[in-house]
Amino acid sequence: MAREVGVIAQAYLAEIRAMRCVLCTVLGQVQETVTQAHHLRAPAGGSQKSSDFLAIPLCRCCHKGKLGIHGDRTLLRLARCDEFALLALTIQARYRQHGA
Ligand SMILES: [Zn+2]
Ligand SMILES: [Zn+2]
Repeated sequence: MAREVGVIAQAYLAEIRAMRCVLCTVLGQVQETVTQAHHLRAPAGGSQKSSDFLAIPLCRCCHKGKLGIHGDRTLLRLARCDEFALLALTIQARYRQHGA
């Protein structure tokens, strides 16, 4: 059972990596680097990685770049949103993709 969940999670992450960067979309900028999966951190600040189903698509710049989410987070401030808003946008984009 646990293995099955792992397989589904891997497939889900592959789909996330095939999406456009949500932060670039909010900022209305052209995405210039490949999409990576960023896992939302637990609100309590725990160091444990969250569920793969709480991953969002971010390009390398928005993810691990100097201004990115693991950097000084300037891009998040510019977009006036937080990681949870980006998760909501990710779910919204996927819902639209699947044709409502
Ligand atoms: Zn981006
Ligand atoms: Zn990350």
